Amino acid sequence: LKVTVTEVPVPVSYGPAFEGERVRKDDVYLECGGGKTPCFELVRIADMDQVEDGKVEVIGPDIKDVEPGSRLPLGVIVEVAGRKMQEDYEPILERQIHHLVNYAQGVMHIGQRDIAWYRIGKSAVEKGFTMEHIGKILHAKFHQDFGAIFDKCQVKIYTDEAKVKELLPVAQQMYRTRDERIEGMTDETTEIYYSCTLCQSFAPTHVCVVSPERTGLCGAYNWLDCKASYEINPTGPNQPIAKGETLDARYGNWKGVNEFVERASRGAVSSYNFYSVVYDPMTTCGCCECIAAVLPMCNGVMTVNREYMGMTPCGMKFTTLAGTIGGGNVTPGFVGHSKYNITQRKFIAGDGGLKRLVWMPKMLKEEIRERLIKRGEEIGIPNFIDMIATEEQGVTEDEILPFLQEVGHPALEMEPILG
Ligand code: SF4
Ligand code: ZN
Repeated sequence: LKVTVTEVPVPVSYGPAFEGERVRKDDVYLECGGGKTPCFELVRIADMDQVEDGKVEVIGPDIKDVEPGSRLPLGVIVEVAGRKMQEDYEPILERQIHHLVNYAQGVMHIGQRDIAWYRIGKSAVEKGFTMEHIGKILHAKFHQDFGAIFDKCQVKIYTDEAKVKELLPVAQQMYRTRDERIEGMTDETTEIYYSCTLCQSFAPTHVCVVSPERTGLCGAYNWLDCKASYEINPTGPNQPIAKGETLDARYGNWKGVNEFVERASRGAVSSYNFYSVVYDPMTTCGCCECIAAVLPMCNGVMTVNREYMGMTPCGMKFTTLAGTIGGGNVTPGFVGHSKYNITQRKFIAGDGGLKRLVWMPKMLKEEIRERLIKRGEEIGIPNFIDMIATEEQGVTEDEILPFLQEVGHPALEMEPILG
């Protein structure tokens, strides 16, 4: 039954050399996601008899049906089956889609989950690349890299708008369920954190260290996912780290973590804090879901998600922020984080925690509404969610400050954020 696939059946060159390559606007044949169309990717476990190994279906228009420069919605669903396959492994396979698709020359992939962004370049289309090849790549590489944990895999590629819209909430519910698996754990209850260095091909000094209360900034890897990934691949990008002596409990700084980060960043980063955006925050890479920034005048912090295209009170849009701080450095005052992390109890805890949050885009607030309300109750401010300004109140510090004063935002009463 074991299938061995030795090469990737695509009409373009394929390999890590093409991973960092961009497809510029003028060279785009087809674009999916990136905030312009709905787009998601999902790996899910299926029963053996439901999966026909190697089958790739494109449901909806393919390259041949659209003009150069087109946009389509996209849903990529990979179904895997096998005796050793577990639900815990789904996110790990899913997170590989990013670099596996990027390996194709002339194809660009950014992000993950429901913020994925695909660009298929004209050069790739000229060589005969179609949507079906995305499925061929995933089938071949999943067998090559993860053949030990599953037996069969099939791929469904939806470009039909109605279908994508129907399946997107299903995928989003699965992301939520995965996120919440970590809910009961705290950083104090484990001596072991996990590294993630998957993004070093783009950001060579970037090292995520994932603790129960600090999920990876891409939002796709939490502590349990990293643990499962290490089980599958003990020499892979997710290594256990004994956190060692606590050097600073408030900001979240551990001797063992620092030593690991220094080695893994090849000396570029010798120490960082888990719970601060102000002081030596974690390194940030380009695939973060959100970026937090200090707003000195408001004595608080804002955060912005990738899908929000507008201006923000720190004076930069998301793209500019990501371009500035996403290269794998520690940038005091700015930090990348996942959406889920906003409502984790250790979110910028060293800087005062959630109470510091003074601005976020309305769409992000709505997306995490339920959890935000729950956290507001936990911190003793049940209407906290309504105190956070959005673009409706303004997109500069000057514009939002009067609102914060009017609602009595707690950040205004806290110790100065820049000590
Ligand atoms: Fe791993 Fe961090 Fe990259 Fe996510 S952002 S894949 S956790 S290195
Ligand atoms: Zn990254």
